[in-house]
Amino acid sequence: MGIIKVKDLVYEYIRRDEEGNVEGITTAVDDVSLNINQGDFVAILGHNGSGKSTLAKHLNAILYPTEGTVWVDGKDTKDDEAVWDIRQTAGMVFQNPDNQIIGQIVEEDVGFGPENMGVPTKEIWERVEESLKAVGMYQFRKFSPNKLSGGQKQRVSIAGVIAMHPKCIVLDEPTAMLDPKGRKEVIRAVRALNDVEHITVILITHYMEEVIYADKVYVMDKGQITLQGTPREVFSEVERLKELRLDVPQVTLLAHELKKEGFPMPKGVLTNQEFVEAFARCIGEVG
Ligand code: ADP
Ligand code: MG
Repeated sequence: MGIIKVKDLVYEYIRRDEEGNVEGITTAVDDVSLNINQGDFVAILGHNGSGKSTLAKHLNAILYPTEGTVWVDGKDTKDDEAVWDIRQTAGMVFQNPDNQIIGQIVEEDVGFGPENMGVPTKEIWERVEESLKAVGMYQFRKFSPNKLSGGQKQRVSIAGVIAMHPKCIVLDEPTAMLDPKGRKEVIRAVRALNDVEHITVILITHYMEEVIYADKVYVMDKGQITLQGTPREVFSEVERLKELRLDVPQVTLLAHELKKEGFPMPKGVLTNQEFVEAFARCIGEVG
């Protein structure tokens, strides 16, 4: 079994009136199954309201399945006794860094998690140092979080989670409130956690450019997984992605349009570099 296994998950939000009668039901996750292996970098893409956050909250036992089962490191999230283990195994990072940072000084903030877990003081400081270094924020350790940019704050939130030594980190649209520079910083830090620290990463986003380094991409729509595969496989489905209202990267679109015009471009072009190389080959063949 992988570090995370989701089987036949259904989750319904139930709205009730004052008397407790059911007024309406929203099926936010509708029969989702997936299996994530230790060390994988997995991306979950989807438009607003497609069920990404509801799914994410199951990976940390914030929500429990209406139907189906979620296992984190082999433990069923419905098992009350496993909740603390699960939350320590799968750390969560949310959209708004301002709601996640509580310390007055960066290093103190990062130390809160391990302190609450009862980690000995000397080890807390080691973990704070290593976590801040892992996200490139060590030189800001004595700063007040108020003085940091959005991208820097979000990296401090990530450091706070990895200081608890999770096997897995779930990031729910961590870049949604950031400017392009902040987004790049955060994505670079997240990639390093996976590449260097071998932490399993589950990155939820609606920015397609952020998923090109993932091992596997799941695309959600109306609570279901509607597309899945490697980034290249998923990016090959340009028409489908447009239907799903996802912003397909410019290079992918341009390569797709050229291919439709008869240029021998490959499917699923991901980066500028790939585009340039493929286009140069086209011109060589055509001219
Ligand atoms: P995403 O993260 O992809 O934007 P969500 O998981 O937040 O999607 O939402 C999926 C669906 O569930 C949407 O239709 C949304 O309106 C509904 N929903 C989300 N949170 C709640 C809630 N607390 N109560 C009722 N419905 C909700
Ligand atoms: Mg969401």
